[in-house]
Amino acid sequence: MNQFSYVRATTAKAAIDAISKDKNARFIAGGTNLLDLMKSGVLAPERLIDINRLPFKDIILQNNSLHIGAMALNSEVAAHELVKTHHPLLSQALLAGASQQLRNMATIGGNMMQRTRCSYFYDTSMPCNKRTPGSGCGAIGGINRMHAIFGASDQCIAVHPSDMCIALVALDATVLVTGPKGNRRIPFGDFHRLPGDTPDKDNNLAKNELITGIEIPASPFTKNVYYLKVRDRASYAFALVSVAAALDISNNTIRAARLAMGGVAHKPWRLQEAEKTLIGKAPTAENFRIAATVATQSARPYKHNAFKVPLAQNSIVTALQKAAAI
Ligand SMILES: Cc1cc2nc3c(=O)[nH]c(=O)nc-3n(C[C@H](O)[C@H](O)[C@H](O)COP(=O)(O)OP(=O)(O)OC[C@H]3O[C@@H](n4cnc5c(N)ncnc54)[C@H](O)[C@@H]3O)c2cc1C
Ligand code: SF4
Repeated sequence: MNQFSYVRATTAKAAIDAISKDKNARFIAGGTNLLDLMKSGVLAPERLIDINRLPFKDIILQNNSLHIGAMALNSEVAAHELVKTHHPLLSQALLAGASQQLRNMATIGGNMMQRTRCSYFYDTSMPCNKRTPGSGCGAIGGINRMHAIFGASDQCIAVHPSDMCIALVALDATVLVTGPKGNRRIPFGDFHRLPGDTPDKDNNLAKNELITGIEIPASPFTKNVYYLKVRDRASYAFALVSVAAALDISNNTIRAARLAMGGVAHKPWRLQEAEKTLIGKAPTAENFRIAATVATQSARPYKHNAFKVPLAQNSIVTALQKAAAI
């Protein structure tokens, strides 16, 4: 690991001032992704700004929305009564991520900002446009079993790895941000990016902006929800595909639906066309199969990941069945 200096910030202003002064500085929260990247030589920040003392840890109901501080730990959020009562889908998604030890260190802000788990990105002997713009992509002609089937570009086919973010895009969360120009709010679906010509950029946060929290509006999705994660082994693995499913059902009719997928695109992938097919319908396996077919119409698999298309369809049907309890 390269040498770096370390400073601890106790106010948001101090953290933002510190990062604005230094081109090669990074915030560090739980360190569970950043330190991995530093150890593998993907990143070599000269200065780390520790943000663990910042006062963004609260989990509260405010103006009918659930507000979760960016420094709250993944384990605390998953276990919190307000989260389990108002947004059980988020709790389920968090518990599907990583291991208990990691969830005890990982923060909400850090989880949103974690980088792709593409193995070529972590292998500094391989070309990677995300790590070194213009160097090429090892995955496109390589082993791309874990890679995207939606929204990829000819520069990068990596997927976004977070479980939590899949639930947050389904729940229409908002990201709360502060920076040198003040505060701003970013709809969750606009926070992460597709790779296009700039795969090195994972999201729309400026380098000197700090995530302070997320806000999740009240919703009817408190009962019929399910987060399904399909992975190569039972614990401690990133998703091959995952599905966040939420239904509002009354009198055997679906009044509202939310569907999003992980492990399939460079960003949390919301399935709005598929959601629309469910409205006004009965919660049956047949209607869920129609939604799954619509959801995968734009899929473009690569040499080693064509299996993800039927896997995604079957996972959508299963997640909806579990959510509807049929
Ligand atoms: C072995 C292993 C298995 C894992 N499995 C899963 C899994 O199955 N599912 C899953 O979702 N995740 C998984 N993870 C990833 C883990 O959830 C993330 O590493 C973690 O959430 C990152 O949070 P952190 O607080 O440790 O971030 P850090 O590592 O401290 O930071 C990550 C990045 O976020 C930036 N950052 C942190 N906080 C802020 C903020 N408030 N504002 C702006 N920038 C910020 C940092 O500068 C850094 O660039 C796994 C990780 C490991 C090591
Ligand atoms: S898929 Fe993206 S992250 Fe992976 S090697 Fe290609 S450019 Fe790099």
